[in-house]
Amino acid sequence: MRAIIGTWKMSFAGVEEGLRMLKDGVCAGEAVVHAVKRVEDEPLFRSVGYGGLPGKDGHVTLDAAFMDGRTLRVGGVMSVENIQNPILAAYRLCGRKTNCLLAGRGAEEFAIRAGLPLRDMRTVESMNRWREAVAAQPDAAWEAYRGHDTVCVLALDDSGNMAAGTSTSGLFMKEPGRVGDTPLVGSGFYCDARFGAAAATGLGEDIMRGCLSYEAVAEMRRGMSPHEACRKALDALSARKKELEEESGSISLIALSPDGAIGAATTLPVFPFAAGSGTAAALYMVENASDGAIRAADEKKLKAVD
Ligand code: ASP
Repeated sequence: MRAIIGTWKMSFAGVEEGLRMLKDGVCAGEAVVHAVKRVEDEPLFRSVGYGGLPGKDGHVTLDAAFMDGRTLRVGGVMSVENIQNPILAAYRLCGRKTNCLLAGRGAEEFAIRAGLPLRDMRTVESMNRWREAVAAQPDAAWEAYRGHDTVCVLALDDSGNMAAGTSTSGLFMKEPGRVGDTPLVGSGFYCDARFGAAAATGLGEDIMRGCLSYEAVAEMRRGMSPHEACRKALDALSARKKELEEESGSISLIALSPDGAIGAATTLPVFPFAAGSGTAAALYMVENASDGAIRAADEKKLKAVD
């Protein structure tokens, strides 16, 4: 049984290609890396990789991670500026016993040693976006801009292995050095091929408080379906935040089980994601307010919240 799932509409092409790779016998890890890299390379997707969202200081800094579900090995980079594909650096780091999570300069030096391509990740569009934001509110205490997103991809291959990959530029106008949940194991992603994989997108500062991805996989270990597990992990954090009299921020979770079943949950009105199994991939969505069921993506509903 092979299956793959990715966050947001932007993951669709990568998920489709990843599924084709799985069908051709490529392992889950390679399919995940391909699907994430596809998004990193596309400047139109402005919250990931090349052309990502700049921070307050006008620098585009990126976070990415990879986890192998058979070995529980993890690799990740955070706050990197010039690595063309942060997911490739994370994938390479994943084989290591120590020093598998590298930040900033150290991560970039690793990428150079590993022969990975470097690139100025800013584009004319990303810098224009930054200039406009600074001009509009020069002294503002910046709120998290709602356009921030993470590409998260989970895959299961025919031999039963699973993998998870994540990549993001984080929050628009973030403070220099800010890191979210995306490269943090258990928060932004978790993958144990015995029980399943999960990954999160949304406000990282909230996601990490609930170790949401680990929680979702733990629920699968306790016997829940990936769909129930996503809802339960998200509801538990929302309930706790309510007790603390905090609003529940925007968070979405995806999950995949070792038998190829998918799951998703969101606090947003509607959350689109791509998924496929066997030979066909499609775009789906879940809504917060409805019964929470997974449905085929409804373009009208998605447009309304764009
Ligand atoms: N989770 C990411 C971060 O906080 C952003 C997102 O997925 O929207 O950096």
